[in-house]
Amino acid sequence: MITSKTSFLALIGNPVSHSLSPIMQNAAIKYLGLDLIYIAIPCKNEDLEIVVDSLKKMNCKGLNITIPFKQRVFHCCNEISPVAKKVKAINTLKLKDNKDWIGTNTDIDGFIYPLKNLNLMKKSSIVLGSGGAARSVIQGLINLKLSKITIISRNKNSLNALITNFENDIKIEGLLNTDIKIDSLIQETDLIVNTTPVGMNKTINDDDLPFGQSFWDTINSNTIVYDLIYSPSPTPFLKFCDKKGCMTIDGIQMLIAQGAKSLSFWTNGLEIPFEVMNDAIKKYL
Ligand code: NAP
Repeated sequence: MITSKTSFLALIGNPVSHSLSPIMQNAAIKYLGLDLIYIAIPCKNEDLEIVVDSLKKMNCKGLNITIPFKQRVFHCCNEISPVAKKVKAINTLKLKDNKDWIGTNTDIDGFIYPLKNLNLMKKSSIVLGSGGAARSVIQGLINLKLSKITIISRNKNSLNALITNFENDIKIEGLLNTDIKIDSLIQETDLIVNTTPVGMNKTINDDDLPFGQSFWDTINSNTIVYDLIYSPSPTPFLKFCDKKGCMTIDGIQMLIAQGAKSLSFWTNGLEIPFEVMNDAIKKYL
């Protein structure tokens, strides 16, 4: 029950109305019997600083940060975890001593969650896209000790920025999607991760694959294919790869695992009921 003592957690982004975080977080909060609620707060671009600063003074215990604020929120924090500094993105804030925000990033743990029982050590991988989520994915692949990462993107600038960020940590190369080496790389790779939004919320056009269907002519059935998109499930890309015999993973487990990690951070290490969050979310997908 919400009382005058209930404190709150919130998601800040623009837009936030599509987010499943309130559903899964409130299901876990209820299960754990915590005196908390989780709400989504839409925030205009020009209001980020004033909103995040004001929430410190309002019994708000923690925040999730989503598009487009994961970088901009850095200067609202007094302390930033090494992992958030490394990937240059913050998705979780926690109030320290009732006055200062500490920023961290739980997307990396979220990404790793469905991969942690597959032995990917020394395997090769391809990451599609070079935006914000690709940073957490690359750090996750480094943590899992893969041998090599190839990023394929249409955007030369963000591709180069990613290489600069991670080139000291792993063997990594960036290719534009027109590069002729790509066919043989796709044939040989162990893991492909899609971080582009291609296929998101599409139910009609099953041909909507990253970089087009013919791009995937050489994919083979031993490759694991992971699409960060969780709606629709499966995406057209995962449907296509499933037909080719590949093991496929969608973005739902990542979504839940990053949220569970944030809730654990806010509650000083409580064990979070993953299945409760999963059941809650499945009703809304
Ligand atoms: P982002 O920062 O906008 O990056 C998207 C990347 O995809 C950019 O490199 C972009 O290239 C590229 N791209 C966009 N449209 C493309 C197209 N038609 N063909 C080829 N490349 C294209 O977005 P993000 O934050 O990384 O998120 C990416 C996706 O991951 C979204 O669908 C998001 O929902 C999903 N995601 C899921 C989770 C989860 O928990 N499951 C977590 C984070 C993100 P340009 O720079 O040239 O536009």
